[in-house]
Amino acid sequence: MNRILRPAAFLDRDGVINIDHGYTHRPQDLEFVSGAPAAIRRLNEAGYMVVVVTNQSGVARGYYGEDDVARFHAHMQRELRRVTARIDAFYSCPYHAEGIVPAYRVDHPDRKPGPGMILRALRQLPIDAGRSFMIGDLPSDMAAAAGAGVAGHRFPGGDLDDFVAGVLLQASAANRPT
Ligand SMILES: [Mg+2]
Repeated sequence: MNRILRPAAFLDRDGVINIDHGYTHRPQDLEFVSGAPAAIRRLNEAGYMVVVVTNQSGVARGYYGEDDVARFHAHMQRELRRVTARIDAFYSCPYHAEGIVPAYRVDHPDRKPGPGMILRALRQLPIDAGRSFMIGDLPSDMAAAAGAGVAGHRFPGGDLDDFVAGVLLQASAANRPT
């Protein structure tokens, strides 16, 4: 292995990066959680790959399409660029076992609490799983992290940058050579 592996911060999207209005997908409805752009920039500067892993069952439910999800993410990335923050990769799961759109009516391992999206990112990107963590607001995010073998940190709300600063402090203490 001669690639340089980096730690990754896997971030849930709705309720962590943007305020969850319920199946949020229109660019004009993007409203960042307090401190989210600064938190992402902090992770960029600390050398983490920032990887979004988000369940988007609204696609399976017929509320919006995968193109809408992509448009929303492009808008989010543009807004972040204004403050020199950057998301390195987006993974989203459009499936749901009880969806109404046949192509997406699947009980898929990507859907959190399944670890599918994180495992795929670990295969596709130069990530050091041992130094990586997931931040999410739901138990299903923590289950996905555990299933993929990365640390999980449950975001209780409030300012995401404060929360991420605390997580990075813990991570650097854990990774300090003894
Ligand atoms: Mg969430």
